[in-house]
Amino acid sequence: MANKTNSQALQRESNSTPLSIPQLRTMFHGQVIASGDSDYDQARTVFYGGIDRRPAVIIRVKDADEVARVLALARETGLPLAVRSGGHSVAGHCVADGGIVLDLSEMRALQIDVEGRTAWAEAGLTAGEYTTAAGAHGLATGFGDTGSVGIGGLTLGGGVGYLVRKYGLTIDDLLAAEVVTADGQMLHVDADTHPDLFWAIRGGGGNFGVATRFKFQLHEVGSIFGGMLFLPATPDVIASFMALAEAAPEELSAIANVMPAPPMPFLPAEYHGKLIVMAMLVYAGDAGEGERVIAPFRALATPIADMVKPMQYPEIYPPEQGEYHPVAASHTMFVDHIDRSVAEMILDHLKSSTAMMGVAQLRVLGGAMARVPVNATAFAHRKSRIMVNVAALYEHPEEKATHEAWVANFAEALQQSDNGAYVNFLGEDGEARIRAAYPGQTWDRLQEIKARYDPTNLFHLNQNIPPANGK
Ligand SMILES: Cc1cc2nc3c(=O)[nH]c(=O)nc-3n(C[C@H](O)[C@H](O)[C@H](O)COP(=O)(O)OP(=O)(O)OC[C@H]3O[C@@H](n4cnc5c(N)ncnc54)[C@H](O)[C@@H]3O)c2cc1C
Repeated sequence: MANKTNSQALQRESNSTPLSIPQLRTMFHGQVIASGDSDYDQARTVFYGGIDRRPAVIIRVKDADEVARVLALARETGLPLAVRSGGHSVAGHCVADGGIVLDLSEMRALQIDVEGRTAWAEAGLTAGEYTTAAGAHGLATGFGDTGSVGIGGLTLGGGVGYLVRKYGLTIDDLLAAEVVTADGQMLHVDADTHPDLFWAIRGGGGNFGVATRFKFQLHEVGSIFGGMLFLPATPDVIASFMALAEAAPEELSAIANVMPAPPMPFLPAEYHGKLIVMAMLVYAGDAGEGERVIAPFRALATPIADMVKPMQYPEIYPPEQGEYHPVAASHTMFVDHIDRSVAEMILDHLKSSTAMMGVAQLRVLGGAMARVPVNATAFAHRKSRIMVNVAALYEHPEEKATHEAWVANFAEALQQSDNGAYVNFLGEDGEARIRAAYPGQTWDRLQEIKARYDPTNLFHLNQNIPPANGK
């Protein structure tokens, strides 16, 4: 709960200057970082490059009480509030120019109930940290394809990863959450307590409050059969890969990245820079059965490299380069099919890219994710069959317009009958695309819930859902 004395002090302070950093330092156990501090630049850096915002203050909160105090500070000063967990927001929403960054990255406690197959996880954990800790017990909750992504943002948007067909979205394993709302209340939220809010935070992003802890279902996922498979990118390979992945048992979740081969030592030099399929395959089940299911993928063409093998599930998140901050133009969408002619068109577009790297990422959905009723959570794309993310990664900011135009053109060519969008892969795409993430009644319901829990839109630096009849 907001500390009244501190709030009043801040209010007085805010009447003269917006913030007093020395005073804030007396109010928080967590780090308070401002311009001029040696770690300021590092603390305002986010995953994506080209985002150079200078917040007034970054507060690395220690607990839910400190979260409530930061919210009070934002209300009282009127400064824009950005909420950060893992810092991977595609739009860079987790850092605000001149604003307050509520940084949860120090809140990383994890309590695993091995017997009960559940875990309480603080929102500052990354997918990799959680997966490694749970994996030590042969257990897992599905997150995304990258270990450094924060469970905070990923979970609140839905969570599509390597267990999506077997166990559904990350939110399908969310049993409860602790949320600090705009007015500083700390709420326990689950199917029986604040069910409207529980519905909204399963897909509605950071619009409704700050999630400090999540309670997840864990599944027995000890060893898997999976890893990276590199294949030549031909229309036939791509189309057949997609057909196989759709027909495969739900134990298998597959991602195909069609992209130029990076200069990795395990890829023959003659392929470097040429278009390939870099596939990630995870068969969450018996290794022998996994090998049998993956055999037809391996037989699509002579693999350029085959790193598919029995492994422990946490190995799907290999160590990442610390200072990798790509600048990207991107578009996320769903499609119904990728047949030979669509695959040919994908290759033609990728060949025409002048970016450092043009990529089409194809993710086959279905399975457990699709069995949850469409209106059960705020993630409304249960029936979508394939998620496609197209991106151009480039170096020079002045090339932005060129690569954005290439992405837009590519996306237009790919558009089929599914007009939806996955909120977690949206960038600064504008209101129409946010509406595409929350079609029809989902939007109306989210706006009503927003009006109840955040009527002044304190949480607006996100893929924003304005309150019904509000601002
Ligand atoms: C390299 C990469 C790979 C990805 N792969 C996948 C994938 O495989 N599957 C998938 O589903 N998504 C994936 N994503 C998208 C990812 O889920 C979103 O970018 C997500 O928002 C990142 O969460 P974060 O906590 O790291 O980011 P942050 O930038 O810290 O947060 C993003 C936004 O979420 C909100 N938010 C974050 N934490 C909280 C909180 N605790 N309480 C309230 N609001 C909060 C805020 O609005 C914030 O601006 C990927 C992104 C990247 C960059």
